[in-house]
Amino acid sequence: MRYAVIADVHGNLEALEAVLKKLKEESFDALLFLGDSVGYGPNPNECIEVLKNKAQVLLAGNHDRAAVGLTDTAFFNPNARLAIEWTQEVLSDENKKLLASLPIDKHMKREHLCLVHSTPKEPEKWHYLLSAWDAYNNFPFFSEKICLIGHSHVPAIIEETPEGKINTFHPKAEIKEDHRYIINAGSVGQPRDGNPDAAYVLLTENSVEIKRVSYDILLTQNKMRRAGLPNHLINRLSKGV
Ligand code: ZN
Repeated sequence: MRYAVIADVHGNLEALEAVLKKLKEESFDALLFLGDSVGYGPNPNECIEVLKNKAQVLLAGNHDRAAVGLTDTAFFNPNARLAIEWTQEVLSDENKKLLASLPIDKHMKREHLCLVHSTPKEPEKWHYLLSAWDAYNNFPFFSEKICLIGHSHVPAIIEETPEGKINTFHPKAEIKEDHRYIINAGSVGQPRDGNPDAAYVLLTENSVEIKRVSYDILLTQNKMRRAGLPNHLINRLSKGV
């Protein structure tokens, strides 16, 4: 199997379409989406509709849950909260229903994959898995070979050797026998690793690669301005932070 893996689209239709266009050139069997279709960006309905049609697996992230009142926004920063309130107003009833129905993790035993928006240890707590230490603490909490995550908007490939050693790779790695992996797909619609290009991951039985594609950031930013979304959220897209 060859998987295309994406996460954290956040209502950014231009970024999502750029990734899907690029993916047309790559051959893959299934598109896996790890959550946060909405929040921050100006096209939440359109992104949900594209994802619903293109992805074989869809998860909900904290912003998806917050947009339908299933996660408290008390811990959201003020800009994220403003964007969620705007999103709640524009989301169609049908898309709200869909978001409310999505799981926050999925165990695909036969494919040896665990999918979760935040962390395998406590998916509902929306912790960030950022360091090798975080990864070390999360490997015991899934039984599959590979766990695919999103949420931090920072792509990463983390390997656990049979001896329990943690290695990190960028932007690609070999998938080795008897080793286990946590792979963060980065963010399509709001990258935060200093690279503004949309991120996605290609995963095969023996390889994984983080890929990037540029998109029309100015168009997205103009739409955000017209929607009255916070300036900070508009500006950060150009820097990828
Ligand atoms: Zn996110």
